[in-house]
Amino acid sequence: ILVALGVVFFGVASFMSVVMSKRAMIPISGAFSRQREFVADASHELRTPLSVLLSSIDAMEMTIEPTEEEAFVGKMLSNMRQEVKRMTNLVSDLLTLARSDSNTIESKTESFDFRPQADKALESVRPLAASKQISLSLHAPATLVANGDPERLSQLLYILLDNAIKYTPNGGQVQLFLSAEGQQLSIKVQDTGIGIKPEDYNHIFERFYRADKSRSRQMGGHGLGLSIAKWIVETHGGNIQLESEVGKGSTFVIRIPLR
Ligand code: ADP
Repeated sequence: ILVALGVVFFGVASFMSVVMSKRAMIPISGAFSRQREFVADASHELRTPLSVLLSSIDAMEMTIEPTEEEAFVGKMLSNMRQEVKRMTNLVSDLLTLARSDSNTIESKTESFDFRPQADKALESVRPLAASKQISLSLHAPATLVANGDPERLSQLLYILLDNAIKYTPNGGQVQLFLSAEGQQLSIKVQDTGIGIKPEDYNHIFERFYRADKSRSRQMGGHGLGLSIAKWIVETHGGNIQLESEVGKGSTFVIRIPLR
């Protein structure tokens, strides 16, 4: 069973590498939109085999007895689970970006209380912060009415908080500030992390750009989070700014019109 899983896994991996290599292969504009369509279709098709792989791994982990001889199988399964999750995230980000390129994402625009979304986003990153003894705090009014797509704005918070934790050494601090300033919603994510060099400021919003490749990879990153964050902010008519000092930390500041 393990060999079969391995074969499926590497099949999916090779398919992904073909998808990625197509990115660089087709430079002209008609072909460019076909290539984006291809990425969208491929990402969509990859979701099913990846979720089948994940449930097979789950099932195997439940059936395998943790005896000494089988400990290595358990270790292999946990590595496979990690890689399948990484690939699932990548596929989901590729699909979001491909759909954003073709304007096929239906965005809701509604007035809603942003505070519960912020609480949820914080809860979802709390285990990662705890694993690095990073303190996590929220500074926000008890209710804060925002305008836009609740799901996308939560995703934006998640991306920024996840990055702040990933790029902050153990024992650091990550803070989320939310407020209404005049007619704008202000979102600030501040960390005491490794910081970003001024020459990387503009590039980090580009697809697949990673200032520190090995750290990003080690943390499960693939360089698409901030491209998605920028797209979300722009579709809400807002802007995103960065203040950072190497070795001291970074602050991402987002302003989104309230109406
Ligand atoms: P990744 O998946 O690599 O984190 P992102 O698009 O989210 O991709 O970010 C792009 C790059 O920007 C990261 O690889 C990292 O080098 C840098 N970066 C993002 N957020 C931070 C942060 N809070 N502190 C330091 N560097 C960051």
